[in-house]
Amino acid sequence: MAYIITRLCVDCKDTACADVCPVECIYEYTGDDKATFPDQLYVNPDECIDCTNCEPACPWKAVFEEDETPDVFNEDIALNYKMVDFEDDFEIAEVTKGHSPSQDEIETNFAKYDYAP
Ligand code: SF4
Ligand code: SF4
Repeated sequence: MAYIITRLCVDCKDTACADVCPVECIYEYTGDDKATFPDQLYVNPDECIDCTNCEPACPWKAVFEEDETPDVFNEDIALNYKMVDFEDDFEIAEVTKGHSPSQDEIETNFAKYDYAP
């Protein structure tokens, strides 16, 4: 089991999650296949120790425990696992704190995926 970063993170890489991960298992994609691995961060499920830190730290509410990932983001579970097969194209995410979203921005991001928690 692991924590999963979903597409709610796309283009929102403020890296608050990476800042609190004790085992540096949150990665960014550095390869060329952005169609397969969009611009977001990824958890390496083989390295995640389920510490739970990243979920509450994410201002965009993009992180879920694997079993609690909403159905609408099911494909993102597979995508986080898929990174294990392409490890050479990933680097540990650098912590570069960014924009802190408003509640409106968070809900607009949810709506892009018809997600209503
Ligand atoms: S649950 Fe803990 S170990 Fe796993 S990705 Fe999140 S911060 Fe890292
Ligand atoms: S804190 Fe959330 S939105 Fe920011 S990079 Fe991590 S998973 Fe993505």
